[in-house]
Amino acid sequence: MNKILVVEDENILREVIVDYLIDDGYQVLEAADGEKALELFQSNSVDLVILDIGLPKIDGWSVCRRIRKNSNIPIIILTARSDEDDSILGYDLGADDYLVKPYSPRVLMAKVKRFLEKYSDTVDETLTSAGGININIGSRLVSVDGIVINLTHTEFEILAYLMKNKGIVITREQLISKIWGYDFYGDEKTVNSHIRNLRAKLGSKGSCIVTVIRSGYKFEEEQL
Ligand code: CA
Repeated sequence: MNKILVVEDENILREVIVDYLIDDGYQVLEAADGEKALELFQSNSVDLVILDIGLPKIDGWSVCRRIRKNSNIPIIILTARSDEDDSILGYDLGADDYLVKPYSPRVLMAKVKRFLEKYSDTVDETLTSAGGININIGSRLVSVDGIVINLTHTEFEILAYLMKNKGIVITREQLISKIWGYDFYGDEKTVNSHIRNLRAKLGSKGSCIVTVIRSGYKFEEEQL
């Protein structure tokens, strides 16, 4: 059974999320502040985190950053701010998706399901290799020239999709519908932000992800 950590200081909002999750058959851990959230995260095997930003003790951004130091699990941010810069900041810290309050609990549940399904979907040990980058779809391990690198859930999905479609231009719209689904709240800037992080992590192989002006991206092996 998938275990989900819900971090929200407003009791009523938290209870609504928890009720929906339990109805959908998930096991739930609850925290009303950032300190408790990190404590629960460290002492449990959590599959996904739903994380409010405005929290007592330790704020959501710091919680997100600390979880990302040890884990690639999906993190969905709940934010009261609709400011675009804040959302982009969330992705730079490694969040996979976000919802702006007030959000629909059903949309949140659809996102949870989508992230967790992708996890269990990928049971095959398919290996994809190109340009010195190796990815294992089953174990979600990525290595660059033999050295394992850490990608977030979403960065992994983007890289795997581009590599599977090597040499083909993938538009930002295609990436959005493939990775986040049709109910995605973000926009193309969010995609750009993930691509930027992904390239940085790939180091010298970051140039394999080529920007195609006014179209999107494609994966290309380096020309020797
Ligand atoms: Ca709050």
